[in-house]
Amino acid sequence: MAKIKLNQHWCKGCGLCIEICPKNVYDREANVSAKGFRDIIIKNPDACNQCMLCELLCPDIAITIETKNKISNIKNTNANIKK
Ligand code: SF4
Ligand code: SF4
Repeated sequence: MAKIKLNQHWCKGCGLCIEICPKNVYDREANVSAKGFRDIIIKNPDACNQCMLCELLCPDIAITIETKNKISNIKNTNANIKK
């Protein structure tokens, strides 16, 4: 299962993640926050299929999807190659 991290300090509330997520993972808070918009919430994290669209398309780099299959999460790749 992927772990979804949303940096609320960087998010400007454009709503792109809500629009492009094929699994309706994101939604908005009911009320407007001090930032002047309804904050984004991760309402349905278990539905995430790890397509990475939200992380790739968020204009403020506010979303990180952590998954075992992600290239950047593979540690010590070279060390594991047998010579
Ligand atoms: S796409 Fe990024 S900046 Fe836009 S609402 Fe979603 S998390 Fe916030
Ligand atoms: S990785 Fe894909 S399915 Fe998961 S929250 Fe992002 S857009 Fe939605």
